[in-house]
Amino acid sequence: MKWKQQINGLKAYQPGRSIEDVKKEYGLEKIVKLASNENPFGSSNKAKEWVQSYDSSYALYPDGYTTVLRSALSEFLGVDEKQLIFGNGSDELILIISRALLEPGKNTVMATPTFPQYRHNATVEGAEIREVPLVDGAHDLDAMLAAIDEQTAVVWLCSPNNPTGIYINNEHLIQFLDKVPNDVLVVLDEAYYEYVTADDYYNALEVAKNYSNVIVLRTFSKIYGLASFRVGYGFGSEEIIRALEPVREPFNINTLGGGAALAALADQEFVNKCKEENKKGLEQFYQFCQKENLDYYPSEGNFILIDFKCDSDQLFEYLMKKGYIVRSGNALGCPGAVRVTVGSHDQNEGVIQAMKSFIVENAIRQ
Ligand SMILES: *Cc1c(COP(=O)(O)O)cnc(C)c1O
Repeated sequence: MKWKQQINGLKAYQPGRSIEDVKKEYGLEKIVKLASNENPFGSSNKAKEWVQSYDSSYALYPDGYTTVLRSALSEFLGVDEKQLIFGNGSDELILIISRALLEPGKNTVMATPTFPQYRHNATVEGAEIREVPLVDGAHDLDAMLAAIDEQTAVVWLCSPNNPTGIYINNEHLIQFLDKVPNDVLVVLDEAYYEYVTADDYYNALEVAKNYSNVIVLRTFSKIYGLASFRVGYGFGSEEIIRALEPVREPFNINTLGGGAALAALADQEFVNKCKEENKKGLEQFYQFCQKENLDYYPSEGNFILIDFKCDSDQLFEYLMKKGYIVRSGNALGCPGAVRVTVGSHDQNEGVIQAMKSFIVENAIRQ
């Protein structure tokens, strides 16, 4: 076969262990999954009700323009409908952007460690990847600027950054955007936007209005709790959206997903409740880390990266035997650490207790 050279040896996405899988292997009855930053409170009842009441034909293709959700989101955000693009999860928007802009001879700039799909899609397209190490968990925007040249087509910013949880503040973002050439697309991935509480966070709507080379990505997978439906969206200037649209698959938002997202959008009370609970949950982890003298990054997302300075895989296995699935730092480019999704109060308490036993049993000293 005449495969693209760059996909030789490229690894398929490694999903976190499934609940059923872990239950079986360890003979456990209850498993708490804190590995993929899913919402521990599920999703809005309004979304459930909508899906249960859906009784139209499964035989019909979905609306290829996602008209109803588009109109609701346009009103909700205060952007024109032509400034919106939908993806089968924001994952697919990352693919669409890469497909539209990246190819051999071009390069793309991103932080490391960050969300791995930027790198993955750039690899498939054969573009040169320029990874700029984080500094204290944050994007090194000056170094990213210095990495941009004539052949740079896309710059990826993840704010708050997965896996560190650190955000880019307004001042730093504006200084950066003022210097980026305006023929370079800046992707601002805000998968955790709804969780952010920092006062000096930028207003992405203003940013997209003022910089015609910025596209903002958001998702219904995280705080809205609809990861299984795969609905993400992007907003930016009409020119960007017009150029990306032909690269999108015609029916990428399925009927049930579009309807569930529409119902969930209307329930901002649920969103606000989750945001509040998340803040309290983060405090549980902060207190634990401070007591145990563990390094961590203050997070603006619904996850926390904790540095145990141990073998991450060993801690990961230990927690799994106790019924808690987290992400090993080894898989995230953060050896010694684990990334834990903030769960419900009791789930957090449970995983914290398990981490405490690990520290005692393994005589971990900071
Ligand atoms: C979870 C996540 C996404 C992908 O979410 P979708 O389910 O594809 O919408 C994108 N970016 C970051 C940083 C994420 O953590």
